[in-house]
This record gives sequence, C-alpha cells and structure tokens, in this order.
Amino acid sequence: MRVSHNLSNFTIKSRFMKAAFLETLENNKVRCTLCPHNCLLKPGETGKCTVRHNNEGTLVTETFNTVSALSIDPVEKKPLYHFYPGTQILSVGSFGCNMKCSFCQNHDISQPTIDILNRRKNTLSSRQIILEARGIDSNIGLAFTYNEPVVWYEFMKDMAVKARSEGMSTVMVSNGYINRDPLKEIMNYINAFNIDLKAFNDNFYREIAGARLKPVLKTLIEIGRSGKHLEITYLIIPGYNDNRNEFRDCISWLHDNIGPDVVLHLSRYFPSYNFSAPPTPASTMHEMHNIAKEKINFVYPGNINIPGIMDTVCPDCGSLITSRSGYSIKHRNIENGKCTDCGRLIYKYFRN
Ligand code: SF4
Repeated sequence: MRVSHNLSNFTIKSRFMKAAFLETLENNKVRCTLCPHNCLLKPGETGKCTVRHNNEGTLVTETFNTVSALSIDPVEKKPLYHFYPGTQILSVGSFGCNMKCSFCQNHDISQPTIDILNRRKNTLSSRQIILEARGIDSNIGLAFTYNEPVVWYEFMKDMAVKARSEGMSTVMVSNGYINRDPLKEIMNYINAFNIDLKAFNDNFYREIAGARLKPVLKTLIEIGRSGKHLEITYLIIPGYNDNRNEFRDCISWLHDNIGPDVVLHLSRYFPSYNFSAPPTPASTMHEMHNIAKEKINFVYPGNINIPGIMDTVCPDCGSLITSRSGYSIKHRNIENGKCTDCGRLIYKYFRN
C-alpha cells in the first residue's frame, strides 16, 4: 500500500458522519444523491460504494476520517503533467468506490471487504493532514486520490476548504461519476482534476465498471467549461476499449467539447484484480497515441517508457519544452509557462 507516513502516529477515534446530498423518504428510507447511482436505501442498507449506509433513517458515511494511504508524490504521478510540473503533492485516500472496475489496480482499497473496513485503524483529522502537508518542503498541497474521492466527499471537502484557506493547491483524481450539484460545490475548492475516461462506450461502463458513460461525459464538460485545470486519463485495455474507430470518435468528442489543449494521458494496462487479458502491446500504444495527436495537442503515454513522445513539445513552433523520463522532468525552452521560442502558453500553472 502507498503509505510513506506512519499513520498509527496520528490515530484518533473514527466516527460516522451524516452524509451530504440525500433525500429523506417515507418509512425511514433515504436516497443518496451524491452520484448517478442515486441509491435508494432502506434502514440498514448500504450503497453500491459500500461506504455510505442508511442508519435508522439517517444517511451516514462510514469512512469520514479514515485514511488508507498518505504519501508525498511527484505531481506527475497523479498523473498531472501541466499543473506545476516538477513539484510534489501530499496524496491522501480512503476506502470505497462507486464503480466496480474488474481491472482495478487499487482494488484492495476501492473494493474493501467488511473485514478490511472493520480493521480500519488509521484515522486522522483534517487539521492533522494539513499540518503534515504544510511541513513538507516543495509540497504544493493536497491530492485526493488512490480510492474514489467522490465517496469520501465530506472529508475531502473538509480538507480542501482548509488547504485552500492556507494557500495550498488541491487536486482531485476521480472517475468523474458524480451528480451535478455536488460537483459544482466541490469545484469551488479544487484547483485541478484528473478524470478517468474508461471507454467511449456505454456497454463497457455498464458491463465492466458497473456505471454509465453519459454522467462521466457531463462531468468532463462541466469541469472543462469551468476553466479549472483538467487532465484526462484513458487506460487502454486490449480487446475492450482499443477499437480504433470508437477511439477516433472519443478524440473528436474531446476536441469538440473540451478543446484541443486538454491534456490526455494514454495509460498502458497490465493484468490486475479480475482481469487477465495480456498487457497492452507497445504497438497499440503508439497507434492510439498517433490517433489522439491528430486532434489533441498534448498526449502522453503512461506506464510505458517511449522516449520522445513522452516529452512536452510546443504545438505551434515544435520547440522541446520539457523532456520527461518516468516521473523526472527537465525543462528546456520555457519561462513563466510560455514557450521561449514563440511565446505560446504551455503551462498555465508553472513555477520557474
Ligand atoms: S455515493 Fe454511494 S450510496 Fe451514494 S449514490 Fe453513489 S454509490 Fe450510492
């Protein structure tokens, strides 16, 4: 597990917390309206995310201050390549997810068993996490990641509000499966997003992820139009979401709805959890990278080392802006976020 801090040093009492975004109904039933599942829960029932349940007519979150992982990471690892490149960010996560991806690489925390949840002993206050973040040199703020932060909404917001009031940046790494009202509310406190687009195919979402495509596209549009920093990750799984025609449609949609400067990460799949399909061939990574580059200016392969195409190049004049190897980077022709050769803006968020 991704824990670089000794969480037991901070342990405090875990607590249930009344959940936000719900409708109360007759006979002590409640409907959770946080995400598009809109789970209808009778007393004692738990939502699809496994971490929100109806406690005698009150919707509660079971993981309010429960932390599964806390680690200082390069911001590139989120992945965010155009948000203060070369800096570090304290990354924090909990348990649970509102999707059920059969290939999940973090299934130990995203799909926790009752036993794991019952043994959750790492609980922190948001103030403790902020203090930790403040004490790390070169840290730009807090990233909510590892499991799905949507299902950790109340504690994420608590941390984000405090982090922003102290001048830190906040990042949300998410599957984008969230209803519009909670999204608009949390966007007030988040500076940058990385949203997974798992396929451009509703059948894939229904059968493999236990969700739907349309709400994710709505989230992308909402964030894209808000002016918040947005990067997108597309994990390429051979035989599942690598149909070239479908991917061309996806790229056209991104171009038309988000714009050509959206940052797109094409991530290589490796077998995990319930999936045993072989890793994505390097040739597929190359081919889909080329398709994406027909319309999107900034496309990066991930989980694979392909020298050259991992670099950031100015789309206008072709100058090498940043060379990349793994998570280490070296800036070349960039000042104040702009290409020094032609003046084009490359990084809106940049530290010289
Ligand atoms: S957040 Fe959980 S309980 Fe609420 S609608 Fe989504 S899956 Fe259901």
